[in-house]
Amino acid sequence: MEIISTISEMKSVVRQARIKGQSIGFVPTMGYLHQGHLELISRARRENDLVIVSIFVNPLQFGPTEDYEKYPRDTEADSQKAESAGCDIIFLPEAGEMYPAGYSSFVEVEGIDQVLCGASRPGHFKGVATVVNKLFHIVAPTRAYFGQKDAQQALLIQKMVSDLSMDVEVIVAPTVREADGLAMSSRNSYLTHHERQAASVLYKSLNAAKELIAAGERNPQKITGLIFDLLQNEPLANIDYVEVVDASTLKNFEQVLSNRVLIALAVRIGKTRLIDNLIMDLEV
Ligand code: AMP
Repeated sequence: MEIISTISEMKSVVRQARIKGQSIGFVPTMGYLHQGHLELISRARRENDLVIVSIFVNPLQFGPTEDYEKYPRDTEADSQKAESAGCDIIFLPEAGEMYPAGYSSFVEVEGIDQVLCGASRPGHFKGVATVVNKLFHIVAPTRAYFGQKDAQQALLIQKMVSDLSMDVEVIVAPTVREADGLAMSSRNSYLTHHERQAASVLYKSLNAAKELIAAGERNPQKITGLIFDLLQNEPLANIDYVEVVDASTLKNFEQVLSNRVLIALAVRIGKTRLIDNLIMDLEV
C-alpha cells in the first residue's frame, strides 16, 4: 500500500489507472479508522480495481468552538487497518495542500444543509460539500462510499453529485454498531467509561421509536416525544435535536408519517456530541 500526500502525485496515479481502464473505489474519511470505515473499504475492494482512502481532518467543516485541534489522529494504526481491509492508496494531504493561502472557492447545497446538523453546526455542510467536491476532482472515483451513520451528509453528497452532473456513483452503506447498538464513531474515543455506558441511550431510543412506528403510530410528535422522554431519563445526555423527517427531502411531516422516514438525533453525552439515525420504509 502506498501513502500519497500531494495532489499532483495523487492525480498522476489516478490518470495512469484511468488510462489502464481501472475502476476506482474511493472512501473519504477523517481517519482514526474503526470497523464502520473498514466495511466501506472492504466493499470498495470487492467492487473496484483500485481502492483509494483519503484521511483528512477537514478544518472547513469544524466550527470555531468545535474539536478540530483535538480530533483523534493515528496515521500509523490507520495505515495498517486500511491495508488489511484492502486499500491500495491512502491520500493523506496536509491542510495547506488542500487549502493553500488565498483559497476561496466553496460549494453549497442549499436547503438540506440548513436543517438537523446544519442548523446546529452553521457552515458544517459547506465545508463537507467543498472538501468532497475537491477530493472527487483529485481522485476521479468511479464509485464513492459513504456511511448511513451520517445520513444527512450522504444525502447532501448524492444531491451535489446529481445537481452538478458529476460522474461518480455514490454508495451508502449501513451503519456499523457496537454490541450494545452504539454507532461506531471516531468521537466515541472521547467518552469516559461512564459516558460510554450512557451513550447506548441513543440507539435504545431510536429503537423504541421504531417499535412505536411498527405498532402503527403515525403522529410525528408522538414519536419525537417518546425519544425525548427516553433521552431525558439519562442524566448524562443533553439533547441537541430529535427529528422525524422525510428521508429524501429532510422536510418535516405535516401530520402523518409516510413513505421513507428518517429518525435522526444529535445528543451531547458529557462534552461529546454524538449523532445517530434510523430509516424506516412505511407502506403508503
Ligand atoms: P468520518 O471519518 O467520521 O468522516 O467518516 C468517514 C465515512 O465513514 C463517512 O462516510 C461516514 O458516514 C462513515 N462512517 C462513520 N462511522 C460509520 C459507521 N458506524 N458505520 C458506517 N459508516 C460509518
